[in-house]
Amino acid sequence: MHADELKPAPQPLQLVQQFLNTRSLMRNFDLLDTPLSFTTWCTETAGISLKRMPDEQDLERYRSLREALRKLLLSHMSGSPAEKASASEEINRIMGPDLLQASFTQLAEPKVTARQDGDTSLEGRLMEAAVDAHYRKIWRRLKVCANEDCRWSFFDRSKNRSATWCDMAICGSRTKMRLYRQRRNTR
Ligand SMILES: [Zn+2]
Repeated sequence: MHADELKPAPQPLQLVQQFLNTRSLMRNFDLLDTPLSFTTWCTETAGISLKRMPDEQDLERYRSLREALRKLLLSHMSGSPAEKASASEEINRIMGPDLLQASFTQLAEPKVTARQDGDTSLEGRLMEAAVDAHYRKIWRRLKVCANEDCRWSFFDRSKNRSATWCDMAICGSRTKMRLYRQRRNTR
C-alpha cells in the first residue's frame, strides 16, 4: 500500500498530493526522472495525455515546480511571512499566468477551471485543484511531512489541523530521536 493511500486528500486536491508524491526520499524513487515514467504518471494517475513526449528540459521544469510546491506547503505550515512570500513568488514564476478560466455552472454558481490548451494542462489542473481546495477551506490541510528525510505529502484530517508527520510511528518518532540525540551531543 502506498502511504498516500493512507492519508489521501479528497478530489480534486488529491492531484496536488499525488504530484508531490511522485518523489519519495524514503523509498528512493522519482517518477519525474524519465520521459516514460512521467508520461505514464500523467496518463494513469493524473488522467492527462501530453501532446508530446517531454524532453529533459520539461522534466527539469516539472521537478522545479514540484519542489517549489513542496516549499510552499512547508511555508504554509510553519513558515515566516517572508518564507511564504518567497515560496509563492517562486511557484508563480514557474507556473506562469493565465492557467484558469472562470464561468458559471448550471446551478448559477461561479467556478474556475483549467484552460485546456496543450502542455500547460497539468499546471492548470494543479492550480484549479488548489483554488477549489481554498474555496472549500481545506487547502491548509494538505501538508508535507515535517521529517526532512521524508517530506511526503499527506492530508491532515485531525480536528485541530495539527498533524505534522505523514506517519507518527515512523517519522514522528525518528524526528524525536534525532532531536534528542542533537540535544545530548551539544551538551
Ligand atoms: Zn514522513
